[in-house]
Amino acid sequence: MTSPEHTMVGILGALALGLHKRYGWQVVAFAAVASNVPDLDGLPMLIDMERFESGHRVWGHNFLLIVATSIVLGWTQARFRWIQRIGGYFARFLPSDVAVSRESPPLPIPTSVLIFVGIGFQSVHLVCDMVVSGGQGLSDWPVKPFWPFRQIGYVYPLIPWGDIGPTVIMMAGIIGMAKIGRAQFVAMLTLVVLVIYLISRSYWI
Ligand SMILES: [Zn+2]
Repeated sequence: MTSPEHTMVGILGALALGLHKRYGWQVVAFAAVASNVPDLDGLPMLIDMERFESGHRVWGHNFLLIVATSIVLGWTQARFRWIQRIGGYFARFLPSDVAVSRESPPLPIPTSVLIFVGIGFQSVHLVCDMVVSGGQGLSDWPVKPFWPFRQIGYVYPLIPWGDIGPTVIMMAGIIGMAKIGRAQFVAMLTLVVLVIYLISRSYWI
């Protein structure tokens, strides 16, 4: 999956679980960030494509790093509230009628909840990468969740990488949510449609 798609999976997943009702928009933004963390191993691409080929979907896409980064992200968010700080910074560039609160969420988000959200959504990232893989001349890219202890890789390609379907479905869900509200219900419905699309699309390839 691409970064915008991982971001939308994080947003929709957190809304579908109703986390926003208890912990505010901050936990939704946190889930969106966590959903992208495994792809940090793609950064060497900026320096050297060969390093990208050997490292991408390996050192960031495993449970060891997922747990470590979730602890760091969760602890720093609870301590320094970087989601609110970054949100407040970008709010300055938004129209004045779009309010982004720098206030604390309705309930303070416990560090343990943040770590749990981090681990959960990074794990969902691995599943998304396993089912969206290959196609268009690209080879399948197995995910090695137990690296560096075990080298075994997993991939279950349902749709090719770059397929526009998931983006269209999730964008439609988010636009629908903005129009009609009922965030939790619309997010749940969108994810159900996405899963149905992934499964049925695998039969068309
Ligand atoms: Zn990935």
